[in-house]
Amino acid sequence: MEGTVLSVVVPMYNEEAVIPALVERLRPVLDNLGVTYEVVAVDDGSRDRTAHLLFEYGRTWPELRLVKLRRNSGHQAALTAGLQRAKGDWIVSIDADLQDPPETIAEMLRVAREQGLDVVYGVRSDRSTDTVFKRHTAGAYYRLMRRMVGGDVPAQAGDFRLLSRDVVEVLKKLPERAPVYRLLVPSLGFASAEVTYARERRAAGETKYPLRKMVALAWDSTANFSAAPLRIATWLGAFSFVACIALMIFGVVVWANGTVIPGWTSLFLAVLLLSAVQLICLGLLGEYVARIYRTVQDRPTFHIGFDSAAEAQRIEIPQ
Ligand code: UDP
Ligand code: MG
Repeated sequence: MEGTVLSVVVPMYNEEAVIPALVERLRPVLDNLGVTYEVVAVDDGSRDRTAHLLFEYGRTWPELRLVKLRRNSGHQAALTAGLQRAKGDWIVSIDADLQDPPETIAEMLRVAREQGLDVVYGVRSDRSTDTVFKRHTAGAYYRLMRRMVGGDVPAQAGDFRLLSRDVVEVLKKLPERAPVYRLLVPSLGFASAEVTYARERRAAGETKYPLRKMVALAWDSTANFSAAPLRIATWLGAFSFVACIALMIFGVVVWANGTVIPGWTSLFLAVLLLSAVQLICLGLLGEYVARIYRTVQDRPTFHIGFDSAAEAQRIEIPQ
């Protein structure tokens, strides 16, 4: 759709349960904005009826566009696909489960236009609907990230945000293999503002972020923005060296007094401890090498199997 003002990117993984509620709530909000828009629903290789449902709703909602990834490639990869395909002057990314209230989109767009900004973050002022575990792990995550990436990263800002076309074009040119947009966007330094909202309960279905995916996101965030884990090896090495010198002096003093330090237990433990430390450091190094390797391979991180907009175009091309 040429001249699209707003694109709403919604990554979805096995979200069949939530789609009817999403359509019911999102559509009136967008219809009432008074701008041309498209919804880019990215089906992240769902195994349920997500794509089927989206396709069906698309029959009666022409602004709903389905982009289907062939495999489950992860939330951030699905966002990348959506950002790459979105045509709007403004691009909002929002979760499918209605935890981010769609009504806030109107406010984001108004703030960005009135103040001439490129980025508006949705900041969760209230997470009382999340589990205690989620609240604590998220709190620790944002504290660590703010320390690592810098204070520009808004705390409690997930992937509900509005970006201008300029920002999206910059993002598209970045060679990131595992982008973490909530850190990447603030690091670009565009003029931004925050709008706060209370996080709602998931409208239906289960979370698609098991612990495994949370840990993966935290590690991607760390490795993308910091080489500090690599320096752990240096610090541990320095610490072991000092400890070794101290032990040596102690050994000489004991020896001068006519005895020796007894036992092979201490020796054995020291060897075991240092081997463990060495293996951990090697593992960390390997993680970074693997990232370099993946970057050099330059394989796409997702494959688009279907795009309803592209298919429509294809039909229009005269044979
Ligand atoms: N999601 C995705 N691919 C994945 C995991 C999640 O596209 O591999 C989507 C999911 O459908 C939802 C959004 O990412 O729209 C956020 O996921 P969820 O709401 O389950 O995370 P939580 O709110 O529990 O952190
Ligand atoms: Mg959610």
